[in-house]
Amino acid sequence: MEPETQTHPQAAEEKPAPVNILMVDDEPANLLALEAVLESLGQRLVRAGSGREALRHLMNEEFAVILLDVAMPVMDGFETARLIRQREKNRLTPIIFLTAVGRTETEIFRGYKVGAVDYLLKPLVPEILKSKVLVFIELHNKTRQIQKLNVELERYVRELESANLELKKENAVRRRAEQELRHSDEKLRNLNSSLEQRVAERSALAEERARELARSNAELQQFVHVSSHDLREPLRMITSFVQLLQRHFDHQLDPTSEEYLQYVVEGARRIQRLIDDLLSYTRLGGRSLSPETVQSGEIVQEALSNLTLSIEESGAQVTCEPLPELEADRTHLVLLFQNLIGNAIKFNGGKKPKVHIRARAEMDQWLFSVEDNGIGIEPQYFEKIFVVFQRLHAREEYPGTGIGLALCKKIVEQHNGKIWVKSEPGKGSVFYFTIPKQIRGGQHVGQVGDESKAV
Ligand code: ADP
Repeated sequence: MEPETQTHPQAAEEKPAPVNILMVDDEPANLLALEAVLESLGQRLVRAGSGREALRHLMNEEFAVILLDVAMPVMDGFETARLIRQREKNRLTPIIFLTAVGRTETEIFRGYKVGAVDYLLKPLVPEILKSKVLVFIELHNKTRQIQKLNVELERYVRELESANLELKKENAVRRRAEQELRHSDEKLRNLNSSLEQRVAERSALAEERARELARSNAELQQFVHVSSHDLREPLRMITSFVQLLQRHFDHQLDPTSEEYLQYVVEGARRIQRLIDDLLSYTRLGGRSLSPETVQSGEIVQEALSNLTLSIEESGAQVTCEPLPELEADRTHLVLLFQNLIGNAIKFNGGKKPKVHIRARAEMDQWLFSVEDNGIGIEPQYFEKIFVVFQRLHAREEYPGTGIGLALCKKIVEQHNGKIWVKSEPGKGSVFYFTIPKQIRGGQHVGQVGDESKAV
């Protein structure tokens, strides 16, 4: 026969482990009879022949239900039940009393009082016995299940608590990081604003300085201009009166006095040249560019005609390759070529000067060069010579005011170009300068002319 616990719906899902059932009776035949009835429940049946033996079993094992005979010698069922209930572990273990029919109701109540949960009368009806025991088996299984669930629940709670703790820690870390971020953000903002303030202060200062510089530049130009004009008049007077003196004492002066007067005339002429050069230099700063389309070949011719005297005196040979049409300030460009060619002729070291002028198209600009076979320049002076009043030779050796190349630099830079020199002492120099093809309005200008000239 199939054990009934197996047919129970819960058992179909997960068969619970067999529970212990304690049967207590001093009559072995009664125990056998009980066993015969309960066997089919498929549980573990434990026999005890006395109350004492029953207590021993209870010390070692856990029982789902105790079937306890009331009428036993030495220690009857009531006494046994009382001792069982005294034990904390068995305070709630269900006890079913088995007693013979005909006992008084007082006895039954006494049984309930010492902890019975039910009462069965002998002779036992197997079906009633089985179904009552079955109820306690299920109760026990349910209790076990609940205990198991409780353990799991406690584990979940513990896990949850530790997760919670982790979360709290993470939260604290995040809050700290956020706080630090806010802090550094604030620092950055402060830094930024102080930086902005400093930049603003600096730019205001720079603007103020630029304004001051422009103002003092304008004042300086004005000063040079006015003083140059004012100097001219007394200078003219000196020259005129010296000439008058020369005429007055015509052939009457001794050679030394004649020589001294000559020095005065020469000195006055030098001052005159210096004033002229200074005036053109300062005028250049005050005047804005008037670009027009010019033939650079014609410009060179004009410069050469201004230099006729020095070309003839030195016997210079000036050659010129085809030069382009370009956009530039005519007067400035003449001055530029005049100074460069003039220097190329002047610094000849006693040789017959050979000067060659050429131009080459480069991307968006023209590259001009003026080459000579003169004395050349030491590399350490390549930049210095473009500064006003910078000269490398004594006036007796090579006359000049030291303004020419500074003027050239100013003119080239006004056209947004660059000027520089390449040279080897004793072998000659090449002065290069560039002029952009577009200096106004966006159209390209300049074409190379087709005739090569020797001048
Ligand atoms: P200046 O010709 O009046 O002396 P510049 O400004 O034109 O002044 O030239 C500055 C100096 O550069 C000159 O005194 C000279 O020493 C040097 N220099 C200029 N051009 C040449 C050249 N072609 N060859 C050698 N030296 C030159």
